[in-house]
Amino acid sequence: MSKFDFDLLVIGAGSGGVRAARTAATQGIKVGIIEDRYWGGTCVNVGCVPKKLYSYAAHFAEDFADAAGYGWTVAKPEFHWPTLRDNRAAEILRLNGIYNRLLEGSGVQRIEGRGKILTPTSVEVGGKTYTAERLLIATGSWPFIPEFPGAEHCITSNEIFDLPDFPKRFLVYGGGYIAVEFASIFNGLGAETHLVYRGEKPLRGFDEEVRDFVQNEISNHGVKLELGCQITAIEKQATGLLVKLSDGRSIEVDTVLSATGRRGNVENLGLENVGLEVNESGELAVDSNFCTQVPSIYALGDLIGGPQLTPVALAEAMVLVHNLYSGKEPRKMDYKNIPTAVFCHPNIGTVGLGEEEARKVYPAIRVYSTSFKPMRNTLSGNPGRTLMKLIVEDATDKVVGCHVVGADAGELVQGIGIAVKAGLTKADFDATIGIHPTSAEELVTMRTLTRN
Ligand code: NDP
Repeated sequence: MSKFDFDLLVIGAGSGGVRAARTAATQGIKVGIIEDRYWGGTCVNVGCVPKKLYSYAAHFAEDFADAAGYGWTVAKPEFHWPTLRDNRAAEILRLNGIYNRLLEGSGVQRIEGRGKILTPTSVEVGGKTYTAERLLIATGSWPFIPEFPGAEHCITSNEIFDLPDFPKRFLVYGGGYIAVEFASIFNGLGAETHLVYRGEKPLRGFDEEVRDFVQNEISNHGVKLELGCQITAIEKQATGLLVKLSDGRSIEVDTVLSATGRRGNVENLGLENVGLEVNESGELAVDSNFCTQVPSIYALGDLIGGPQLTPVALAEAMVLVHNLYSGKEPRKMDYKNIPTAVFCHPNIGTVGLGEEEARKVYPAIRVYSTSFKPMRNTLSGNPGRTLMKLIVEDATDKVVGCHVVGADAGELVQGIGIAVKAGLTKADFDATIGIHPTSAEELVTMRTLTRN
C-alpha cells in the first residue's frame, strides 16, 4: 500500500496535464488532476478551438463576396455576434463534458479548485491536502499585458470570446500569432480593425518572405496596420476607448485586445514552498525528462518555455509518462521540425526552417518560391494570392523548410511536415505526381530555382 494518496498528481487540466493524467491512469497508475477554471485548458476554452470556430465565421464574409463571380446572388449578408458567441459557448460546454468523461473513464480523480504546492509531495486544494509520489505542474500560460496608463481597459484572449457586444471598432496590440489571428477574425466579421505592433512587420521569427507576404495580404483584406509604434495610454471616453500611440496619433475604438505574449501561469502555485523559481517570463526550468530541480516535481507544456503549442504539450506528456511508467527504454522529446499554422486570413502553414535561419545553419541552400492567384480567385475576382516556398539544403538535397500562405495552409503543411520530418529530398518531391488542379501541386512542380 502506497503511503501517498496518488502516484501522480497533476496540477492543471489543459492539453498536457489531461494527456499525462489519462495516459498514466490507463497504465494502472493512481492519478489525480487539479483544475480551478478551464477543464481542457486554454486550447479548448479560450484558445485554439474557439478561435478556429471564430475564424470559420470570419471566412464567410469572403465566401459571400466570392460567390457572385460564380453566378450566385447572395442577399446582403448580416452578421449576428450573439449567435456565434452563444453557439461557440454551447460547443465548448459539450467539449468540457467530453474531457471530464474521458478523465473519469480512464480512472483519473478530478479535483476542483486551485492547487497550491506545500511540499515536494503534497498539494493543498480548498483547505484539503493531497499527497502524491510525484507532482506534475501543467498549469500552462496566462496572457501578459504590458504596463501603461489605462492598460486595465485592455482585454485578453481570455475575455475576447465572450464580449457582450460586437466591437464595431477593434484594435489588437501585438504582432504574434494571437494578434494576426484576431485581426483577421474581427476584420472578417465586419469590424474596423487596427493592429498596433512595435516592430516593422508582424510575426517576428517567421520566414521574412512569409512575413512580407502576410502583411500585404492582411492589409489588402482591410486590416489597418499601425507599425513601429506602441500604445502609450488608453483613455476611457463616453464614445469609446481612446488609444494613444507613441507616434503621436490616437485611435478611438470599442475594444482593445492585448495579444502581447503569454507568461507561465504560476501565481499562488506555492513554488516558493519547494524552492522552485521561474525566470522573468514565468518559465520553469526542467531537464530533458521534464524534471524540475525538485526530483519529485515535473513540469511540461507552455510553462517550460518551449513552443506554446497544444500538440507539443501532448507529445511532452506522452514522453514523460512513457519514461516514468513504461519501464521501457526512455524517449526524448524531439523539438525539430514542428509544423505549425497561424489562422490569419490567409492562413500560414509552416514546417522546418525559414530562409534566414537556413542560411545560418547550412553553408548552401536552394530556395524555390512561387506566388500566384489561386484558381478559386479567378472567377470571383478576389485579389488574394497564395505563396509557396521550399528551402532545400544544397549538399544533401533535403527539404529543410516549407512555407505556405493561402487557404487551408495548415491542412496542407501537416502532410508536408511528414516529408520534412522524414528527411525527404527535393528529388523526392519532384518525383511525386501532383494532384491536379490544386494549389498544393505547386509543391511538387517547382522546378525553377528562385535563388541560392
Ligand atoms: P507571441 O509571442 O506570438 O507574440 C507576442 C507579440 O507581442 C509579439 O509581437 C511581441 O513583439 C509583442 N510584445 C511582447 N511584449 C510586448 C510589450 N511589452 N509591448 C508591446 N508589444 C509586446 O504571443 P501571442 O500572445 O500572440 O501568443 C502566445 C503563444 O500562443 C504564441 O507564441 C503561440 O505559441 C501560441 N499560439 C498559437 C496559435 C496557433 O498555433 N495557431 C494561435 C495563438 C497562440 P516582438 O515580436 O517585438 O517581441
